[in-house]
Amino acid sequence: MTFKDLGIIEPILKALQVKGYTHPTPIQEQSIPILLDKKDLLGCAQTGTGKTAAFAIPIIQHLYLDSGRKPGNRKIRALIITPTRELAIQIADSFTDYGKFAGLKNTVIFGGVKQGSQTQELRRGVDILVATPGRLLDLMDQGFISLKDVEYFVLDEADHMLDMGFIHDIRKVITKLPTNRQSLFFSATMPPDIVALSRKILGTPEKVTVRPEQATADRVDQAVYFVSKKNKPDLLIHLLKTQEEGSTLVFSRTKHGADKIVKVLNKAGIHAAAIHGNKSQNARQRVLTSFKNGETNVLIATDIAARGIDVSELSYVVNFNLPNIPETYVHRIGRTGRAKASGIALSFCDQEEKAFLRDIQKLIGQTLPVVSDHPFPDDGKTASEPNSNKQPQSRNGGNNRGGGNSNNNTRTRTYSRGRR
Ligand code: AMP
Repeated sequence: MTFKDLGIIEPILKALQVKGYTHPTPIQEQSIPILLDKKDLLGCAQTGTGKTAAFAIPIIQHLYLDSGRKPGNRKIRALIITPTRELAIQIADSFTDYGKFAGLKNTVIFGGVKQGSQTQELRRGVDILVATPGRLLDLMDQGFISLKDVEYFVLDEADHMLDMGFIHDIRKVITKLPTNRQSLFFSATMPPDIVALSRKILGTPEKVTVRPEQATADRVDQAVYFVSKKNKPDLLIHLLKTQEEGSTLVFSRTKHGADKIVKVLNKAGIHAAAIHGNKSQNARQRVLTSFKNGETNVLIATDIAARGIDVSELSYVVNFNLPNIPETYVHRIGRTGRAKASGIALSFCDQEEKAFLRDIQKLIGQTLPVVSDHPFPDDGKTASEPNSNKQPQSRNGGNNRGGGNSNNNTRTRTYSRGRR
């Protein structure tokens, strides 16, 4: 199946060629025909599956083919709402990329920065608006935005919208949308409150599900290290010093924890930076840029701050803390193993986190291989773990190299992957 087979028009095909996309991902293959047919869609999919292109491509195609607008008179005809600034920027970039030969204009608005440049863009006129909910309502209240011409509405990452307390904002936005529209609703999980919200937004939707197992198991090599809480920083330093070079995203449960990890790594001579909600938007953007262009190889992030990170060269994800919500694990490891690449996800599990590990394994339907031959095993407690001697295979043919630099003569396993 190719994009051409899906009926995508030439200007978009050309843009996809520039991006180097040869084949649609499963979510794209399933969603694009439904969306080109102008039906509503309920998509159960996480970031990392290619879902942005799954909705952006058909929207661009509709807008391009029905370009009934007069010059100089652009109206917001497509609205995409997403929970975080990083995701909003990334989605807008995708519209720019996929629509670069379609002559459409998009812009992105989000809070935490001055509104001047955003309102200026809006005044000039846009076809596609990508927004976080708070800033959207704010600028609507101030009269900068009217939604009366919206024909395509996307609610992205609905479960995180709710987690972040945006439900009231979303309800308000919905009341301002024309009833005659195509609506798309994406969420990685579908608990009852999400299903209820989707019913308020969608007509009779078609449903598409890309199961997390597919996204994780197919593309990411995963392993777990049993290690005491106290030894986690040393294990991280050890891994960063012995693993083959590559950009590494480390997940910390808290903002404070993220800053602490940066300090410990810097002290050990490893250049690292943190990204989390306590940092200003500009500081976050600076750190992200330096990570994306390879100046910083190690980034420590909290879950919310990491949601928009899209680094195609990302080699490793390290879960310094295991998340208590198993779906979060799937989101995290989806940062690596993106649509066209495989990756490695390593998790540190202390005694208190073993229950989280069980939940994660249940969700993904796999038992994670355990790496036990590392310098900081959680002594006496790992022996009874299943698979405790099993060595995971790396995707590139099992070419993990035994590192010889352990400080207690324990043979260590180094995860390696070709630099991409
Ligand atoms: P998303 O789930 O939208 O965040 O997309 C995940 C990543 O996959 C992004 O880096 C996209 O640029 C990339 N991507 C999306 N569709 C394709 C495709 N058909 N082929 C290769 N890469 C893709």
